Amino acid sequence: MTEKKLPFTRETLEKIIETYPTPFHIYDEAGMRSYAKRFVKAFSWNEGFKEYYAIKAAPNPYLMKILRQEGFGIDCSSIAELEIAEKVGMSGDEIMFTSNDTPVDEYKKAVALGAIINLDDISHIQYLDDNIGLPELVCFRYNPGSLKEGNAIIGHPEEAKYGFTRSQLFEGYQILIDKGVKRFGIHTMVASNELDPDYFAGTAQILFELIADLSKKLNISFEFANLGGGIGIPYKPEQSEVDLERMSRGIKANYDRYITENGLGPIKLYFESGRAITGPYGYLVSKVLHIKDTYKKYAGLDSSMANLMRPALYGSYHHISVPGKEAVQTRIMYDVTGSLCENNDKFAINRVLPKLAAGDIVVIHDTGAHGHSMGFNYNGKLRSAELLLREEGEVVEIRRAETLDDYFATLDLNGIDSFKV
Ligand SMILES: *Cc1c(COP(=O)(O)O)cnc(C)c1O
Repeated sequence: MTEKKLPFTRETLEKIIETYPTPFHIYDEAGMRSYAKRFVKAFSWNEGFKEYYAIKAAPNPYLMKILRQEGFGIDCSSIAELEIAEKVGMSGDEIMFTSNDTPVDEYKKAVALGAIINLDDISHIQYLDDNIGLPELVCFRYNPGSLKEGNAIIGHPEEAKYGFTRSQLFEGYQILIDKGVKRFGIHTMVASNELDPDYFAGTAQILFELIADLSKKLNISFEFANLGGGIGIPYKPEQSEVDLERMSRGIKANYDRYITENGLGPIKLYFESGRAITGPYGYLVSKVLHIKDTYKKYAGLDSSMANLMRPALYGSYHHISVPGKEAVQTRIMYDVTGSLCENNDKFAINRVLPKLAAGDIVVIHDTGAHGHSMGFNYNGKLRSAELLLREEGEVVEIRRAETLDDYFATLDLNGIDSFKV
């Protein structure tokens, strides 16, 4: 069970809204920092442990700066994401570059920043070597195929476009050795939004056994094992947070058995979690614009799927609170909608909420990952601002809302007059 609490009251929100009109995403710095500290502490047994925050979850350099202070690196997969790393002052092994189907320009940028390069395919060894040259340290992404059952969001590994097969790993590391590469890492990521802590111990076992086989067969040693992301969050109140200590104990048991007892290591453990780091600490704050009563009851908000796509895209549950109305007795079932001309623009379907009225503040939970970042401009909708609730209670704007000028910025509107039809 998870109590769906808010780090602010209705009064605080009303104050914030005086300066920053709805809708906006707001992140809770204290919550993020406390989770980051727990994460690092859970793996303190592993020397060199590092979490590389998967920046795609909430690509805001202000958030990254906070997480970096907590000891996190950054996991990037595009030029823009690498630029975020650069803007925060990150370089070298603070950056993991885990991309796929990668264009050469992205590799160039990653290599220029000294990032750890994690190759998604065996053909990219030659591609990288031909175009840029191989770095001293190279990591491969392993896809265990039918060895590991994936989960609902990521699907079955053998259907996934990512990673090397087992035999390609043996072949690939041999190619690296022949080309003079001296330092090696290995990576896998087979789950997304997984809530079972034991699942990660199972993934670690597969990876550690593989490291033992590769080390023996090829006579190399591995510097790190990257267990990827995929730590889930309790979107629903009846779900529970992943027990990090339990997860860590399970991984350590396998580390001791397959790495230490085989005389290997020490090997640094890495994660590249995104969702778990910022997801629960972000909120989409919106107002009820209209209440509509037809075949069903609708609560229309002043935000839309352009601000939070997950419910429409995956049918995901996001908890909704109506601050100040917790004690209201009358409960009504609504579809909570946005304004896109798409009938799937619904934040919730058949959700029982306190009786709503136009002007009510509605808070949608767990939007700190894949919320603002998945935003888009369909139907001419503009992306909202991002705010940060600092630890001392101050609120700062860490990204302004888009304006119509932003929307039209890529068009040459002067050309329209001379354009002959
Ligand atoms: C998305 C992604 C992550 C982060 O996944 P979460 O589910 O947000 O933890 C990590 N690594 C790679 C390669 C990814 O694509």
